[in-house]
Formats: sequence, C-alpha cells, structure tokens
Amino acid sequence: MTASVRTFLEAEVKCFLCADVSGLIRVERGGQSPIATFKAVGSETEISVRTRTQLRCPRCNGPTFFDEWEQRREYAKLDFLEDRPRRGRPPKRLVEQRGVA
Ligand SMILES: [Zn+2]
Repeated sequence: MTASVRTFLEAEVKCFLCADVSGLIRVERGGQSPIATFKAVGSETEISVRTRTQLRCPRCNGPTFFDEWEQRREYAKLDFLEDRPRRGRPPKRLVEQRGVA
C-alpha cells in the first residue's frame, strides 16, 4: 500500500464558558510558517484557521481555548496510485467494451 505520513500537533478546542468541545485544532509545519486547521466535531472537513478568535463556541458563541497538545501521525492513503489495472485477465466490463468496438 502506498501511504504518505502527515505529522501534526492536535488539541481539542474547548469553550471557556460551557466547556463544550467544538472540534480539533491541528498545526502542521509547512515550509516557513505553520499551518493551522480546524476540524469540527462530526465533520471530516478541515478549514484553515488564521486567528484563534475565529473559533467561537457553536453552542454559546463563547471564546475557546486549546486543550493539551498531542503529537499525531496520520497515514494518508494515496488512492490515485492504487487505481491501476491489475495484471492478468481484464475485468468483464472491459472485455464487453472491446467486444462492442
Ligand atoms: Zn460554549
């Protein structure tokens, strides 16, 4: 399997007022300046974060803080490299296509 490793620091984003965890903040060293992204609870999408004040609590709109930082590692599969035709007998749909042409 082909995989790329991504390392970053990750912390929970918590609300000062109601202690609700709204998501995860991730900081990655990318070239000169670190890149910060925020991933909301229940979401797979990471959005880029410029300032901490951008992250308000979705529940009460209170200010947030970052909990303990942890070093994380994510193995990202590079699917486009896996999507190669296999050796041997071609798939049935390809045989049918050829039969028509
Ligand atoms: Zn809150």
